[in-house]
Amino acid sequence: CGIVGYIGQQDSKEVLLNGLEKLEYRGYDSAGIALLNESGVNLFKVKGRIATLKETVDNNVHATMGIGHTRWATHGEPSEENAHPHQSNSGRFTLVHNGVIENYQDLKREYLQGVTFHSETDTEVVVQLIEKLYEKTQNTLESFRQAMELLKGSYAIAMIDNEDPDTLYVSKNKSPLLVGLGEGFNVVASDAMATLKVTDQYLEIHDKEIVIVNRESVSIQKLDGTVLERNPYTAQIDA
Ligand code: GLU
Repeated sequence: CGIVGYIGQQDSKEVLLNGLEKLEYRGYDSAGIALLNESGVNLFKVKGRIATLKETVDNNVHATMGIGHTRWATHGEPSEENAHPHQSNSGRFTLVHNGVIENYQDLKREYLQGVTFHSETDTEVVVQLIEKLYEKTQNTLESFRQAMELLKGSYAIAMIDNEDPDTLYVSKNKSPLLVGLGEGFNVVASDAMATLKVTDQYLEIHDKEIVIVNRESVSIQKLDGTVLERNPYTAQIDA
């Protein structure tokens, strides 16, 4: 029920794990993180507490970008397999999702016949769909955009393409999600509380917008590709 993402110069583990801890109040039954480095995506998932996730994460893995998730199961029991992040079958796309994809069964029937699934979640349909759309578009942003257009329901999503270590793909609809701005890094979070330690500058993201988050820049677009200008605001630290 919470998302954190980091792309920058430093090792992302601490920001992700501390962020997830700050989101614990939202309630969860499992958690996970994905770290992208030269060796590819390193996935760590557990059923249970963030403390257990911390013990499971290999401290020798260093990565300057990553995404993390605390799950409140809606489709599929709380388990390691159903915990996020979820990956497409080729392993290329990895994503975290909060919310409920109401038309996941329709999407599965219409676009994903014959695709093997590894979890019972509505979320896995999204990442497999993006991979399927990529076969035609050969373009990650376009596949992400087309997938977001097809989704019905609520979502906050952050995705990694392991062929592109400079970009986090983000979108939301009816679930909270913010982008935090830093010097040489940017973060994504369900709640500014998760990342206040690293920045107090935030961009509000509106429903059905797509955000391309790089280390030095953030671009917000509408689903039709129109680029939007938005000023950051300063998040107040609540005592
Ligand atoms: N519907 C998704 C699942 O059951 C996401 C739940 C959440 O918001 O944590 O895995």
